[in-house]
Amino acid sequence: MQYRDKHKHTPGMTTDIYNSETYHSLCGKKVKLDGRTLQHQYFLGPHDIALGLSTDGFAPFKRHKNTAWPLIIFNYTLPSEICFHINNILPLGVIPGPIKPLDANSFLWLVVQEFFRLGVGVQAFDILSSKLFTLCAHLIIAFSNIPAMSMIMHMKGHNGFSPCRMCEIVGLCIPNSRATTHYVPLNHAGHPQVQAGDVETYDPEHLPLQMHSAFLARAYEVQIAPSNAKAVRLAKKYGIKGVPILSYLPSLTFPVSFPYDFMHLIWENLVKNLVLHWTGSFKGLDDGDKSYSVPKAIWEAIGAATAAAGSSIPSAYGS
Ligand SMILES: [Zn+2]
Repeated sequence: MQYRDKHKHTPGMTTDIYNSETYHSLCGKKVKLDGRTLQHQYFLGPHDIALGLSTDGFAPFKRHKNTAWPLIIFNYTLPSEICFHINNILPLGVIPGPIKPLDANSFLWLVVQEFFRLGVGVQAFDILSSKLFTLCAHLIIAFSNIPAMSMIMHMKGHNGFSPCRMCEIVGLCIPNSRATTHYVPLNHAGHPQVQAGDVETYDPEHLPLQMHSAFLARAYEVQIAPSNAKAVRLAKKYGIKGVPILSYLPSLTFPVSFPYDFMHLIWENLVKNLVLHWTGSFKGLDDGDKSYSVPKAIWEAIGAATAAAGSSIPSAYGS
């Protein structure tokens, strides 16, 4: 439990969550809770604990999809080699299914209450120094797959008009289709919905990023909308359904404390789609037309070589 305190930060080098900007922006700041500024600072004490929240829809029964969402905590105060090991994970509870909860905030409120208590500090005993101390713990990150992330950030989700938690890019409907989902091309020019004065193209290097205060101002605007119809309209426009309860924890910044998670984004989604692309079977898009298709014989040789390599890859790399 001393890993965080002993971690040395080399500017410009990222080896750990303790090199992140969000963590550094908290260090030295006084802890604020429920509008009150407390006397102690974030992560000043050697015992202070940094935690991460994660959830993921899973199907406990064969025939259903995404029927429950376990809420789990990772303890970054443990060495990074072991902090994700199953016996170091703190399970908080499960949001039951079978459909997404109407009000995920009502489940997360229990989590927020505990973090209020841990932000103030609780008495604990340090066996190494035989002393009592005030144990403080702060949530510094939350991550999950995109649908569960929309749930805990109180957002409409990736099929909506404002689909992105990181930027303010807006989606378009598929022309002449009744589909309710949107897609998000960078170039909007030529789409029948686009009117003069609308943003026509987005520069991928300079997307209009979501910012903490603007995000929460919009969330509040939706929350206090004078009528249900207005709330629905605003929620669609902003992609935000109301004030996320996690925003009451000032150790979190929207949206940067809610990053995309590598496992879902890359391993479970991008790699899958790339394989479909390389084998010429991705949603009928340029199938077999362009040079990125890998010929069948080569693809099979890569597969055979990969399978054969399994027995000589050190097990420390895992699957
Ligand atoms: Zn975006």
